[in-house]
Amino acid sequence: MNKKFAVYILCASLILLSLSGCRAFRRPVPDPVPDPPPQDSQPQDDTESDVEEETTVEIPEQVSQGEESEPQLRVFIAETGSIQTLMMEEYIMGVVAAEMEPTWEKEALAAQAIKARTFALQRIDEDGGVPARNADASSDIQEFQAYNAERINDNVREAVESTRGLVAVYEGEFVRGWFHAYCGGMTATAAEGLNFQGEEPPFIHRAECPCFDGIEADLRYWEKSYTLDRIRNVTRQIAGSDPGAVNSIEVGEESEGRAVTIMVNETEVNAPEFRLALGSTEFKSTILNEINISGNNVTFSGQGYGHGVGLCQWGAQIFARDQGRSAEEIVKHYFKDVTIQKLWD
Ligand SMILES: [Zn+2]
Repeated sequence: MNKKFAVYILCASLILLSLSGCRAFRRPVPDPVPDPPPQDSQPQDDTESDVEEETTVEIPEQVSQGEESEPQLRVFIAETGSIQTLMMEEYIMGVVAAEMEPTWEKEALAAQAIKARTFALQRIDEDGGVPARNADASSDIQEFQAYNAERINDNVREAVESTRGLVAVYEGEFVRGWFHAYCGGMTATAAEGLNFQGEEPPFIHRAECPCFDGIEADLRYWEKSYTLDRIRNVTRQIAGSDPGAVNSIEVGEESEGRAVTIMVNETEVNAPEFRLALGSTEFKSTILNEINISGNNVTFSGQGYGHGVGLCQWGAQIFARDQGRSAEEIVKHYFKDVTIQKLWD
């Protein structure tokens, strides 16, 4: 799973690097992104198509039902091994219902809907969806994104309908829809949170977030204990060399409160990798407040839940609930300099 994730991140980074607004300008959007600085000093034709920077996206041909028409998707349902053909908005309802609490604030669910729609179309546009399943999408979160039609309620339905056709766009490309449950107070760069190896995506930034103060008190901090043997094994597995009997565990490199590396004795391991190896639902984040070794065990305590990159779900919930922020405002808070484009009515 680790390797697969790393490969996926690598592919995503290569794709991001290789795409630089090379398609023809298509149509204006109400809120275009500013022109980027010149990319090079090559002489250029003065034709309009070369001067004009593309700022919009199109529905990928693979799922298109015609321009400005709602796409149709072939969705691989991992639980049954079958393929379901769904209209895009119906699919997004099942994604939002699976990824977020269906009873949450409508604008928070709506922000998640814009994220989910953008994620799906980005993957279809760049990877052809899930070609291994001969599908455009999959309900397996390792392959694509979660989907659960049974959790759809009226609240989710209304939230998704209110964002019908909306996607987040950066300079003519679909934004990569990273999200997490609870950033811990400030979101992370892709390098910090995901050990992302490519150039930092321009729409990802450290965004201040109201989640820490607004989250339910019993969810604010986490704590988890492991045996020192487990830590030794995990370190050996990641580093490829045995750190020896563990007597010291510390944060190595740190960035804005997040551990970037962990030192196990004298062996340094990448913190996001360490977290995934120890179980990302238990070792909840790389914001570590304390590491205590006692006897044969170590206890980590920290705040946050998830990699911290992109949209923070608890932040979205609190923005919507306590500040009356709209879905578009929430998406633009977490994804810098993006525009929201409507692809179908
Ligand atoms: Zn947050």
